[in-house]
Amino acid sequence: MSAAADVAPGVEEGRIAPCSGHALELEPGDELVVIDPMGEQVSDLTAFARADTAEYLSSGRSIDYAARLWLTTGDVLYSNRSRPMFSILEDSCGRHDFTLTPCSKEMFEKLYGENPGRPGCEGNLAAALAPWGIGRDRIPVAFNIFMRVEMDPASGRVSVLPPLSRPGDFVRLRAEMPLVVAMTACSAGQSNNFSYKPIDFRVERAGRAARLAMGRQG
Ligand SMILES: [Zn+2]
Repeated sequence: MSAAADVAPGVEEGRIAPCSGHALELEPGDELVVIDPMGEQVSDLTAFARADTAEYLSSGRSIDYAARLWLTTGDVLYSNRSRPMFSILEDSCGRHDFTLTPCSKEMFEKLYGENPGRPGCEGNLAAALAPWGIGRDRIPVAFNIFMRVEMDPASGRVSVLPPLSRPGDFVRLRAEMPLVVAMTACSAGQSNNFSYKPIDFRVERAGRAARLAMGRQG
């Protein structure tokens, strides 16, 4: 499981243990930094609007509006209702996937012959989101941070390759609405070059930035 600790007023840091997930709430303006501490690890991230969890992070909308498969700094991640959920403020890696569903028990069984399959990111996202009443059937295509998916332009065949992320690479996302966000340290060896590693995160609360701007500490 994960650990989260206050390191400074308005800042929370945590480590998501290998093959697990974590969820937290964000307010508009809060910034979430997702970090690959050791390199070549994937974090599947999804989010729901807290005002109505029928509104979720949409791969299809986000790719459609960006007119690109590979989203990076300056791009916006949209909900199924076409409203901005996140802005990507920084991206030191530059290569992520937003097309494949999170690894799952059935995927491990169908593609990789595990019996029984492990819960995967799908099960870990659902477990993390259970306190918000969100179950496995509602886990959409995730923003698969650091995941590298190649497509052969002639045949359309897709393949999952080791991430390009190096130790310390990160993505900084700004929340654009009140959200519950869940993320994982991916369980699929094919996604992380069989190196099942943790994922780190940091949350910088918007209220903290406002206080610092006003010259007050804490
Ligand atoms: Zn996964």
